[in-house]
Amino acid sequence: MNYQPESVPARLAKNVYEVDEGNSHIEVHQDAVKATGSGDLLINCCPAHVYSRGQDGRIDAEFAACLECGTCLAIMPEGTLSWHYPESGMGVQFREG
Ligand code: SF4
Repeated sequence: MNYQPESVPARLAKNVYEVDEGNSHIEVHQDAVKATGSGDLLINCCPAHVYSRGQDGRIDAEFAACLECGTCLAIMPEGTLSWHYPESGMGVQFREG
């Protein structure tokens, strides 16, 4: 039998999200990000494109799309980001291993 996986975007599209509306599990500390110049690092590190730069230069976080991989928390300078897992039963539910 020949296994032919679907593309990564197609597989990710099967994920299900339980969004905890109004209760973000991500907080970007704008002053610290600005002081460390780490805004682009944050934007570019995320595989789900959670982060973007607003017109005012602030870094926005579209937390509902988070894959909970932990990359942003691991690489950002101390004090720039607060991140925790969503409350129980919320967040991403993966449909493929
Ligand atoms: S945990 Fe992963 S998917 Fe979620 S915001 Fe951070 S880098 Fe993006």
